[in-house]
Amino acid sequence: MNGFVFGKIFGIKLELHSSFILLFGLMAVFLAIFQPDDFIPTMILLFFLFLSVLLHELMHSVVAIRLGAKVKKIILLPIGGLSMTEEIPKSPRAEFLISIAGPLLNFAIVFLLLIAVSAFPQLPFPNYLFEKTPTVEEVETAVSAFPLFGLLWVNLLLGMFNLFVPALPMDGGRVLRSILAKFLGFAKATHIAAKISKIIAIFFVIMGLLGGNLILAIIGIFVFMGAGQENEIVSIKEIFENQNIEPVINPKPLVIDGEKNLFEVFDIMKQQNKTNFLVKLEHGFGILNAQDLFQVKKIDWMNVFAKNICRKVHSIPKESLASDVAAKFLAKEYSMIPITENHQLIGVIEAESLQNFLEIKKIEKQ
Ligand code: ZN
Repeated sequence: MNGFVFGKIFGIKLELHSSFILLFGLMAVFLAIFQPDDFIPTMILLFFLFLSVLLHELMHSVVAIRLGAKVKKIILLPIGGLSMTEEIPKSPRAEFLISIAGPLLNFAIVFLLLIAVSAFPQLPFPNYLFEKTPTVEEVETAVSAFPLFGLLWVNLLLGMFNLFVPALPMDGGRVLRSILAKFLGFAKATHIAAKISKIIAIFFVIMGLLGGNLILAIIGIFVFMGAGQENEIVSIKEIFENQNIEPVINPKPLVIDGEKNLFEVFDIMKQQNKTNFLVKLEHGFGILNAQDLFQVKKIDWMNVFAKNICRKVHSIPKESLASDVAAKFLAKEYSMIPITENHQLIGVIEAESLQNFLEIKKIEKQ
C-alpha cells in the first residue's frame, strides 16, 4: 500500500500511510451520515493523533540524525510511525536513545498540557476527572468535549503503548533489545526480544478476538510479522558474517536487450526455457519475468518493449558482502541482482541461489 507524501522537513520525506487516509475518510463519511454531532470533535481528535504521531516520529529522526544515521522517510500510521533509516547505528546506546525519544516527546506534551491547564484555570479542561477515579464513559465524553484533553489523551496513549509494550518492532521492544544487547550482543538480544514479541503478539490477537477489539488483533498480527522480520535479518547477518558473494554469482545470466518487443522476448523465453531475464537498458538494468508478460495483452505485444515493463534494479559491486545482498533481497522483492566489477556486468545473483547458500551455511554452522 502506498501513501501520500505531504511534505519534507530536515531532508526527510513525510508520508501519510494509506491506512491513515482510509481511517480519516471512513470516519468522516460515517459520522457525517450517522452521527453528525460527533463529526467535528472526532475530526479534531484524528488531527491531533496525526500531529502527535508526526512529532513522535520527528523526535526519533532528530535523535537518529544527531547520532549519525540518515533518515530518508517517515511513514505515519494511526498507531505510530515508521522511520526509514539508512545505516541504523548499531550501538545499544544509540538504539536506546533513538527508541526512547519518540514516546518521551509524547509524555513531554502531556506534562506541558498539565502545566498549562493548572497555570491557566480559565482554559476549558475537565478538571473534575482528577477529583476521583473517573469511569471509562466519563473519560470518553471528556475526550471529545474538551479538545485539550483529547490532545493529552492521544499523547498519553501513544507514549504508553509505544514505550511500555516490550515488543519489536515497537519502541518498547527496541528499548528492551538495546538493554539486552549491552550484555548479550546484538544477535542474541534480537532473538530473545523477538521471542518475547511473538508471545505478546499472540496475546494481543487472542485478547483482540475474545474482546471484540479488532484493532488490537490487527496490531498483534503486525507485531508478530515485524518481530519475525527483525529476527530474520539479524540471523542472516549472523550466518553471512564477512562472507563474500563470489560463490553465488551466476556468470552466465540470460541478458536481453531492452529494445526487444514482447514477441521477441517470448521467443527467447521458449528457446531457453527460462522465465527470468536481466534486461539491458540504456542506463543500468531491469528484471523481467513471466508474470510481467501476463500483465500485457497479446495484441499489444508488438508495440511494448522489454524496457517498458521491466522493473529497474541497482547493480552491486562484486566486493559486496552476502549479508548486504540478502538485505537488498529482503527489502525489495527482487528475483535477481546484477553484479558488476569496474562498472562492467560480470553476472547476477538469483534470490534462489542465495537462499540455497544461506541454508548450506546454516547447516555448516550447526
Ligand atoms: Zn516510536
